[in-house]
Amino acid sequence: MHQGDKHVSAPKPGGLKLWRPNGRIPDTYLSLVERTAVLSPLMGKIQDVQADVPALAASLSARWRSRVNELCEHNVLMQMTRKESTRRADDERVLTPDQRQERQKWLMLNCKPAFYMSKEQGWYCRNPALCPYCWARDASALWQRIDARLFALNNAVRIELGRTADGINARGLDLGGGDEDLLPPKLNGTTALLVRIPVIVSRTVQRGGTTFNMLQCALQQRTKVRAARATSPGTVRGRYVDHTKFMQEGCFGGLESIGLRSQASEDVEGDFAWQVTLKQLLFVPSEKTSTFAGLVKGVMPATLRDKISVRLHKEPSRRLVALLVAQIMQYDKLFLFGEPEQALAALQARWRCRLTTTFGYLYGRNS
Ligand SMILES: [Zn+2]
Repeated sequence: MHQGDKHVSAPKPGGLKLWRPNGRIPDTYLSLVERTAVLSPLMGKIQDVQADVPALAASLSARWRSRVNELCEHNVLMQMTRKESTRRADDERVLTPDQRQERQKWLMLNCKPAFYMSKEQGWYCRNPALCPYCWARDASALWQRIDARLFALNNAVRIELGRTADGINARGLDLGGGDEDLLPPKLNGTTALLVRIPVIVSRTVQRGGTTFNMLQCALQQRTKVRAARATSPGTVRGRYVDHTKFMQEGCFGGLESIGLRSQASEDVEGDFAWQVTLKQLLFVPSEKTSTFAGLVKGVMPATLRDKISVRLHKEPSRRLVALLVAQIMQYDKLFLFGEPEQALAALQARWRCRLTTTFGYLYGRNS
């Protein structure tokens, strides 16, 4: 322990907060995205929002808290504190790794839940890489931005109606599916393509006495496949080469994220076989649907083409877009249920990789 500096205050465990919903559970598109991306895949189906959400959220809270303790015991939370040396105030930089992890633990244990408004005041741990609540909030923020882009005409109407006390757009409270649920005229004749591209990699590969982290290589390869400075003809600097191809063919815009799953490897003891899934949502002109169904496979290596699945949704409604974005942004279960070593391997591999990106008309600063 670091005892020498009297200015250092060790993080104080503050006890567990009791989170309770404040009144009605919101049934907005925003909360629909949070539930679909995180709560139902982790905890089970939601049939009755008012009854099921508080019950499932309570189960998630219990699981999350025992998970945080478990990950702390395995020193997994050390990974989350790596960025602190540059972000925190000077006197906090001298905390030992153990102290930083302990403080991180309490931030995560008491992170304010998503899915409903709470009676108690609280704060966010701001670690969406691991925390299901912060992940849900990031997913719904991303959906809000995409929604604003796609349904901009309708947003003008919604802004006029003003905001409710809890900051939720008044129109957003209505799940009735009126005119505001339709794509604006500019987007008539648009089809949404939901694309899933599974890539299997082992975690490690030995070559000539060197160990390569293949999961990290796969993620970095995908998240950094941007044309290099010396841009060759036909590529655009700073863009994914295949996304650029989609745009050249008339794609309106899209969203991509990467999901991670793993199981113990059959070949190497202590290693994991990882499934890295590239998930894409593309908005394309309906008359070009078959061109794009071929193109999404054509731009991938031949070995992957047979495994790629493409689902079509003609003229998607606002509600359907919310659900599709939530599917792309689904929380990876292994962070809550996998072996601590799996969670650590995944966190380390995706460290500094931006797994979610938008392009074309959906492009925005916070993607
Ligand atoms: Zn959090």
